[in-house]
Parts: sequence; C-alpha cells; structure tokens
Amino acid sequence: MLMAIWQKGMVAEETLALTKEMKVSGHVFQWPEEWAGLVVDKHSTGGVGDKVSLPLAPALAACGCKVPMISGRGLAHTGGTLDKLESIPGFNVHQPVDQVKQILQDVGCCIVGQTEDLVPADRVLYARRDATATVDSVPLITASILSKKGAEGLRALLLDVKFGRAALYKDLDSARTLTQSLVTVGNRLEIRTGAVLSRMDAPIGRCVGNALEVYEALECLKGRGPDDLKDLVVVLGGYLLWMSDQSPSPESGQRMITEVLTNGEALRKFQAMLEAQGVSAHVAHSLCSEKTDYFKHLRRADHQTELQASDDGTVLDIDGMVIATVLHGLGAGRTKVGEQINHSVGAELLADLGQQIRKGRPWIRIHHDCPELSPEQHRDLQRSLVLGRRESYQASVRVADFIPPPERQLTSRLL
Ligand code: URA
Repeated sequence: MLMAIWQKGMVAEETLALTKEMKVSGHVFQWPEEWAGLVVDKHSTGGVGDKVSLPLAPALAACGCKVPMISGRGLAHTGGTLDKLESIPGFNVHQPVDQVKQILQDVGCCIVGQTEDLVPADRVLYARRDATATVDSVPLITASILSKKGAEGLRALLLDVKFGRAALYKDLDSARTLTQSLVTVGNRLEIRTGAVLSRMDAPIGRCVGNALEVYEALECLKGRGPDDLKDLVVVLGGYLLWMSDQSPSPESGQRMITEVLTNGEALRKFQAMLEAQGVSAHVAHSLCSEKTDYFKHLRRADHQTELQASDDGTVLDIDGMVIATVLHGLGAGRTKVGEQINHSVGAELLADLGQQIRKGRPWIRIHHDCPELSPEQHRDLQRSLVLGRRESYQASVRVADFIPPPERQLTSRLL
C-alpha cells in the first residue's frame, strides 16, 4: 500500500481519509469547553538551529493560549525539539495524557513526545515507510503530521515549511506542493491550518546543537539573543494569535508576542513548564535567572575549537547543511531512530551574515568531545563560510510566503 501511494500519490479526499483513520487509532485529546478556540500549535518540517518552538510555546501560553506541543526527535541533519530539551537535567518528555492536561491547566504549554497511546498507527506506518523507502511521499507526510496534530484537538495550527539547502525541499516551488497538501487536509480536519514557507540555508540564530540551542532559546526568552530567531518567533506567534481569533491582525499578534518576550512573562511560563516536566525548582530558577552560568547545568563539551577566517570580506553565506553534517559526524545527531546522541556537541557562529570580517578572526567555535577535529572537518567547515565583496551581499527575509487558512483572509500583507 505504501509503495502504491508513493508511486501514484493520492487526491486530497484520500489523504484526508487516511489521516482521519490514523488520528483515531489512539487517544484523541478533548479539552474543557472554556478552552475552545485557545488550543494552538505550530509544526516545523525541520531545520538547522531551529529552536523556535522553545520560546514560542511559552510565549503563546503567556498570551493566553493552550499549547499541547507533541514534538519529535532529530534525524539525519535536523535537530529535534525533544533532544534539545533533554539536555536540561531532569526534563521528562514522556508525560501521560492526564499529566498533559494538568500541565496545560496549570501552565498553559507543554512539549512532550508521542506516547504509546497517541496515534499508534503513525508509529507502525513510519517504521514501514522507513523500510520501504517511501518516507518522502507528500500524502504520507501529510497524514503523518496531521494525524498527530488532529489528536491534539487544535483550533489553529501553523506549519513552518522549510525550503533551501538545509531543508527536505531545496526550492520554494517543491515546498509548495507539501504546503498545499497540509493546508488543504488540515482545514478539512477542521483545524484552522495556515503555513509559512521559510528559507533554510544558513542556520537560525547563532547556535546549532542541543545544549547550545537551549542556551540561545533562553536568551531569546530574556529579550536578548539573535534578531533572526526573535523575528521568527514573533512572526509565527503573531500569525497563530490572529488565526485563532486572539488578535485582530497578525501585526497586533506580533506586538503581543514581543511584549511577553520583553516583560519576562514568556520566560516565567518556560520556567513553570520546566518544573512541571521534571526539572528541579533550583535548576529551572537558575536557568531562567537574568544572570546565570548556563553551563553549570547544561553540559559543556570537553573541547572547543575556533576556526579563523581565511580572508578579509563580507559574510555572504554560511552553509547550514555543511555545519549540520560536520556536527552530525561529531555525535550531535542520529542516523537511525533510537541512537544515542551527544547533547553537548554543537557550533556557535561568531559572525553574522552581512558582517565584515578580517582574515585570522575566529568566525565559528565548535564544541566537541573528541580530542580534535579532522582535517576534512576543518576543510568542510571553512568551505561553509562564503566571503565576498560588500556590494554582493543581499539580505534575504526568512519567511518568504504565508498561506492563511481559508476561514481567515488577510486584509494586509506583512511580507
Ligand atoms: N514529520 C512527521 O511526523 N512525519 C513525517 O512523515 C515527516 C515529518
């Protein structure tokens, strides 16, 4: 069946039928009536340095939403939200259904793994897809993602479909096929489903790797951190608040998210979520304090190696795919489901796109546990930095398009 679907594809009606059956193969969340309209989530198809869920879930909760985020683990070059959170000592991604309800009641957001009783059909089918090389089928991806989101009992869902060098889809047009399928089937499931198409060439933010990304997400929650990460959190959050009728426009939704990132309310939600999911009050408080030594709690790798720019120039590009592949080789990611990973392995970018850099200045710091990087790893990393003339630099916005749910039509374009 999987191979027939992979070869022939399916029309929306068929994909919808499969998605509905998968959704009801296990527990489907029912929420209290007073939450009607408040339950929202976002799903990203995976990128390099994509830690957006970590600040976004508590920011939405601070704006009054309920966010039952069921996330996944990293595979190949893409990181997984659950792996990032597990670099925090004590964080437990395995929460039974009743506990998810309790955390949503008390805190407003949780980030958990897929439990045994949530969409078991997806687990079975995914393993068979892996074995039959049918993972990359648009209807099968659609049914897999949306059956899990359907089981969350959502009012609104925003999909962040990545395209670019470090994404499954290398160009905007091929990403549109999946996006259209997700938006059509999501809305037919009676979830207000919208999507952004966002560029995934250079890493998001300055940190890649599980523990380092937690550090950067916490900085974002403290109103600091890199602008591109904050912008993505604000834009996605603004759309979701508008899509679920909690703000009159995406722009006002963006202002609400900016405010809770600035006034500490999102940070307090994150701290409460950490405690509710098993982190000790002391560690949660320390990580969420204004001034903290993050690496008292997050493990730092044994070695750090800085690489120097080989020339003067403007940073025109940083190839996220190459960096992710090198980090994968150093133990940051897994090749097969179930493999152990090293949470401390990662990279910190010391230069931003568009920045002038002098020959000999460090531009990246690699965190690794093996004694040293191999000559090939050095070479590949140096290749990922593209320097050139200032006039050749063109800043590109990450979010290239937004497809609203049919029920909500945009009166103004933000992009
Ligand atoms: N994420 C999923 O949950 N399933 C897929 O098939 C692809 C991405």
